[in-house]
Formats: sequence, structure tokens, C-alpha cells
Amino acid sequence: MDSKQLTALKTHNETLAQFIVRLSSFYEGLSAETDNELKVLRGHLSAKPDYTLATASINKLNNHIQLAQSSVKQHTQLTIRELEKSIKQFQQNFAQDQELTRQCALVLSAAQMPVNNLFELQSLCLRAIRLFSNVSQPVAADNSKNIQADTEGRQSGTLFEEIQNELSQLINSYAKKQPDEPRVQDLKKRLDSPLSEDDLLQTCLTVIRLVVTETMHEATLSGRMIYRIYTALGGIQEKVESSIETSSQSFEKRQKSSADITSQLNQMDQTVQESDSLELLKQQAKTHIASISSAVADRKAADNEEQQALMSLFNSMQTQLENLQRQAQLYRRKLAEQTAFSHTDPLTRLPNRLAYNERFNREYEEAKLDNRALSLAVIDIDFFKSINDRFGHQAGDKTLQVVGHHLKKHLHGDEFISRWGGEEFVMLLPFIEVSALEKKLDDMRQSLARLPFKFKQEKVSITASFGGTCLRMDDLPESMFARADELLYQAKKGGRNRVVVE
Ligand code: GH3
Ligand code: MG
Ligand code: MG
Repeated sequence: MDSKQLTALKTHNETLAQFIVRLSSFYEGLSAETDNELKVLRGHLSAKPDYTLATASINKLNNHIQLAQSSVKQHTQLTIRELEKSIKQFQQNFAQDQELTRQCALVLSAAQMPVNNLFELQSLCLRAIRLFSNVSQPVAADNSKNIQADTEGRQSGTLFEEIQNELSQLINSYAKKQPDEPRVQDLKKRLDSPLSEDDLLQTCLTVIRLVVTETMHEATLSGRMIYRIYTALGGIQEKVESSIETSSQSFEKRQKSSADITSQLNQMDQTVQESDSLELLKQQAKTHIASISSAVADRKAADNEEQQALMSLFNSMQTQLENLQRQAQLYRRKLAEQTAFSHTDPLTRLPNRLAYNERFNREYEEAKLDNRALSLAVIDIDFFKSINDRFGHQAGDKTLQVVGHHLKKHLHGDEFISRWGGEEFVMLLPFIEVSALEKKLDDMRQSLARLPFKFKQEKVSITASFGGTCLRMDDLPESMFARADELLYQAKKGGRNRVVVE
């Protein structure tokens, strides 16, 4: 190497060292360990560079940077997830504000794009912060008041609200059946206004007590009915036994009377053969005929008596059987009413979750056995909470009834719909394949979106998201439902008011 080349190499090295020193200052702040090592490296490369020590320091830094890289990735993902959660919550809180909802959806879709560096993450956070701070003051103030009120009595509004809703619905439908029961009416009144955490628990306890008492009362009624049937059958059995006893005594009497008549006839025959005086024969014949007549008369009387006893036994048995039949019919009707009641959702009058479970098990078994198609769809009303929040709980209830009725109108024959709970419905569609399912669900979705709802003079459009799937060879009952539910989640994530079928 000549001196010219040596000078050039020195200059390059110095440039490189200065560049590394500047770059290391820029990247300060990643972690305390990296910062320290960067300082050491700068020391080795400044003024009179010592490349041997600098190389050792660079090796250490390499390890630190590798670790830091994966931790930055994790932190970025975590930040994005938290950001998405907050925006969704924010979107729900202000669901009535359509512009805000739209802006939230835009930031959410940006959050779903790949984030390549910290600057992109920073810009995403800035967009979210701007979104949060854009909310008009009065709404934010109102909302914070609600949160304040909520934290006083309850930890998490939604769960307690849902429990109170469900309990209130149960009691309302029960109250209709029992308008004179003061305990039920009292519970109904209590559940009409928001309850604190403690009051709600207390109310749950009262409801449980009521249910237990009612169940025991029902059990007592059933027990009484069974006891009545048992005693009535016992009475009938006693009468039949005594009638059998009387019949066998009569049979013996009848046999004896027949034997008497036969013996009188034999004696008469002998008298005819032996007698040589007509007068004597006449006399003896008269005596025999008198005995035979008396035996026949006795027998007739006994037969009559027996027949009458039998008739009265049959009559009393018939009356008892008719009574029993009436009671059994009453009981059967009551049982049918109870079964229908326990399988029906009181608000929408659609089958409830219990009915769905029973129906699903039947359809699943049959579809597997006959190797035929079976489709399942889960439907969830979009932004339903905002209907309650904007127009009140009654408007929410009415919406559930209309949507349930509307969805049911699209079904035919063996197709089944139930209210799964809250604002969710589940459908079972036998013989429907995936392609037909998608079309059917999309027709439902579109016609639902066109329904004209009007609350407080405001026209409102209600939409729902649909997740649908078809039974597969390796499906278990739970996996089929879980898949449909996951597809519903995708429909929600994809922007709502859509059908996702797979
Ligand atoms: P998303 O689009 O994500 O489904 O949002 P959403 O608002 O529909 O869903 P979310 O689960 O946040 O809210 C459902 C609400 O439905 C909460 C609950 O208070 C309300 N709800 C559940 N059952 C009833 C009911 O029987 N009547 C009324 N009026 N509201 C109910
Ligand atoms: Mg829901
Ligand atoms: Mg919903």
C-alpha cells in the first residue's frame, strides 16, 4: 500500500467513525443498556479511534439491538391492539354520532394495515388522539357524568345492565301470568329503574327464592295429582276384587241350583217310570214342578241382583275413570303449557336458547345420519346499544320484536329461528348448502336494512351482521357454532351490515 492509499484509507475510516458516532446519538433512547454501550462506542471512535475496542463494543451492541428489535415489534403490536380496543369502545360510546363513527372506522382500518416503523405508529397514535379530542365538549361531559354515576354503584355498566335486562324480561312475562301475585309485581316495579350493584344482587336472591318456592309448589301439586290417581285406582281395584268374589259365589250358587233342578227332573223321570196311578203321578209331578219353579225363581232373583250389583259397579267405575281422565287432561295441558313457556322467549315469542339446543341436537343427529346438508347462521344487530341509548329501552325491545319477526318471515318449512340472547338470533336451515345460504342470508340482510324504523320522529335504519356455515364431516356440535360465531365476528370487523359465509 502506498502513502496515497494509506491517507485515503485513514480519511475513509475517520468519515465512517464520525458517521457511526452521529448515528449512535440518533438512536439513543432505545434502552438504558444500549445507550451506555453507544456511549462507550462513541468514546472508542472519537478523537483517536481505537478500532479493536470499537469492534468489541459493536459486537455487544449487535446483541442488544437484536433483542431490542423484537421487543419493539411486540410493543408496536401491543400498542396497536390497545389503540383498536380504545377506538372501538369510543365508537360504541358515541354510536349515535354518525360522523364520529365514520372517522373511527377510518382510523380502525388504518390500524389494520401493516405498520413498518415507529414513525407510522406515531402517526397512527396522533390520528387517534385527534379523534378523541375532536369530540364536542357537551357530549364528553355528559358521558363522563354517566361514568361517574356508574362507578358509584357499579363496576361495569354493561354486564350489570344485561343481568337487569334479562331479569326484568323474565319477571315481566311471569307477572303477566300472575297479575295478583304481590311479590312478582313488587319485583317488576323494582326492576323498572336502574339498580345499584347491591340492590341487583338482592333482587336476584329474591327471584331465586321465588323460583324455588314455585317449583316446590308445582312439585306438591304434581304429588297431589299422582296421589289422587293412586287412590282412585286403588278404589277401583277394591271394587273389581269384591265383584270377582261376588261373581264366584254366584257361580257356585248357580251350579248348585242347576244340580237341584237336574235332580228334580231325574226324580220326575223316575216317578213317571215307576208310577202306575195317574192321580199319584199328577201329585208328584206338581211337587217337582213347584220345586223346579222355586229354584228357577231363586236363580232369576239372584241373577238380577248380581246384574244390578255389576251395573252399579260399572257406573261408579265409569264415573271415577271419567274424573281421572278429566284431571289427567288438565294436567297434560298444564305440562304442555309449561314446556311451551320454558321454550319461548317472552319478548319476541320466538323459541329461546333451550329450544335451540334441543332442536340443534335433533337436526345435527339427523343430518349426520342421512348425510345431508345443515346450515347454521348467527345474526347480531349492529350498534344495538345505541338504539337503547338514544331512544330508550322500550324502543330497543320493539326493535328486537320487529327484527325477530322479519327474520322469521324469510324461513320456510323445517327452517328454525331462535333468540339466542340479547340482540342475537340463531337459525338452523336443513338441506341448505353454503352457496344457497349466502344468498338467503344476504336477502335477509338487505331487506332488513330497508325496513323503515321510526323512533321519536326520527327515521332510523337498522342493520345486522351475519355469520353462516354448513355442517362438515369432522364437525362437532360446538365447532359448528363456534365457526359461525367467528364468521359473525369477521362480519362485524369487516364493517358490519354484511354476511360472511364459509
Ligand atoms: P355490535 O354492532 O358490535 O354488535 O354492537 P352492539 O351495540 O349491538 O352490541 P353490544 O354487545 O355492545 O350491546 C348489546 C346491547 O343489547 C347491550 C344490552 O344492554 C342490550 N340488550 C340486551 N338484551 C336486551 C333486551 O332484551 N332489550 C333491550 N332493549 N336491550 C337489550
Ligand atoms: Mg351481541
Ligand atoms: Mg350487536
